Amino acid sequence: MSPADGAADQLLRFVDASPTPFHACQTVAAALDEAGWSRIDERDPWPTEPGRRYLVRAGSLVAWSDESASAPTDRFRVVGAHTDSPNLRLKQNHDVGTDAAAVVALEPYGGPLLHTWFDRDLGVAGRVVLRDGSEHLVRVDEPVLRVPHLAIHLDEDRKGRDIDPQRHLNAVWGVEPREFLPWLCKRESLTGADVLGFELMAHSVQPSARVGADGELVAAPRLDNQATCFAGLTALLAAEPVDGLRPMLVLFDHEEVGSTSERGAQSDLLTTVLERIVLAAGGSRDDYHRAIAASMCASGDMAHATHPNHVERHETLHPIALGGGPVLKVNQNLRYASESRGAAAFALACEQAGVPLQRYVHRADLPCGSTIGPASAARTGMITVDVGAPQLAMHSIREVMATADVDLYIQALTAFLAPQGRLPA
Ligand code: ZN
Repeated sequence: MSPADGAADQLLRFVDASPTPFHACQTVAAALDEAGWSRIDERDPWPTEPGRRYLVRAGSLVAWSDESASAPTDRFRVVGAHTDSPNLRLKQNHDVGTDAAAVVALEPYGGPLLHTWFDRDLGVAGRVVLRDGSEHLVRVDEPVLRVPHLAIHLDEDRKGRDIDPQRHLNAVWGVEPREFLPWLCKRESLTGADVLGFELMAHSVQPSARVGADGELVAAPRLDNQATCFAGLTALLAAEPVDGLRPMLVLFDHEEVGSTSERGAQSDLLTTVLERIVLAAGGSRDDYHRAIAASMCASGDMAHATHPNHVERHETLHPIALGGGPVLKVNQNLRYASESRGAAAFALACEQAGVPLQRYVHRADLPCGSTIGPASAARTGMITVDVGAPQLAMHSIREVMATADVDLYIQALTAFLAPQGRLPA
C-alpha cells in the first residue's frame, strides 16, 4: 500500500468514528492519548512545565506542544479547522403526533444539501446532559431514522417538490407512534427522566469507502471539514520539532452556523489557550502580544474542485483538480482570511514538502462561502492563510475527494507546522 493509500484509509476510519463534533473531538483525543499527549482541564491551574497537551471544550479541541519553546515570546504555528458539518438535528419536542407511523421532528443545522438526506439509512448521535450535570456521548450506528421522499405519483408535475425545512424533514422510525428519547435512553443505558438537555443529530450509517477506478476517490460524509481535522491531527503528530516554535492544532465547532458560541471560532477559546500558555511559561501580557505578532495560522477547510458537469460555475483562471494537491484560497472580500504573508508561508511550506499548490478564487458573480479563518484572525490578530483540499459535492451527505489529496494535504500542513530554515522576522 502506498503512503497515500494508508492516509486515505485512515481518513475513512476517522470519519466513520466521528458522527458529531463531540465524537470528532473524542476521536482526535484518543489519537493524542495514544501518542502520549496529556489532556488538561480548563478549570485547573495551567501546567508550568513544557509538554504536549490538549484540551476539549465540548465539540472543540486545542492541542499544542511547547516542548521546543525556550522563551515565553516564542511563536506559534497553528493549523485550524472545524469539527461540525451540516446535518439534521432533533427538535426539543420532537415526537410528532400521527396515527400513521412513529415520526421524529428534525431541522437543518447549517446548509446541508437537503435532498441528499432523503431515503438514507440514518443513525443518531450526540450529547445528553443528565440531572446531575454529567455529560454523556450517545451514538446509535444503526439505521433508525429515515426521511422518505414523496412518491413521484403524488407529485402533480412529477418534477420533485421544493423541500420545506419545516415540514418535509421529519424522519419515520417505526410503525407504532412512540417517544424517541426514552427509546434512545434505554438503548444507551441512561435513565430517560434524568435527561434535561441534549444536542442530538442524524448521520448516515453507510460506511465511508474508496470508490472510482483503483480506489482513486474517497466517498464519505463530513469531509467538510473532518478531512482537515484528520490531516491537521496527522500533521501535528508528524511535525518535527523546531527550536523556538510551538505547533498547535485548533478544531472549532459551529463554523457552519457562524462560529458565534462559547466554543466557536468567534469565542475566546483560542486566545485564552494562547495567553495561558505564554503566562504559564513565565511571560507577561506583553510577551503574549509579542508571541501572537510573530505567529501564523493556516485555517484549513475544504475547497471546491472544478465540477466536470458545471465547469461554468468556476472561475476560468482558477481550475482546481481533484488529486492536484492542496489549495490556497483567496477572496478580496475576506470571506477567506488569506493575505500575502500567510499565502507566501503556505506556498513555501508546499514547496518544502514537494507538494503542488493550487490557487482558488471564487467567481466574482457568485456568493463565496467562508471558514473559521476570518473569525479566528479577527479574534487573535494572527496572520492567517485559508487553505484546503479539493472536493466535490460540498454539504452533501456523502462528499467526494481524491485519495491522493489526503496525503498531499497532510504533507503540506506538516511542513507548515515545522517550517525549515530561518523564519521571517
Ligand atoms: Zn467547511
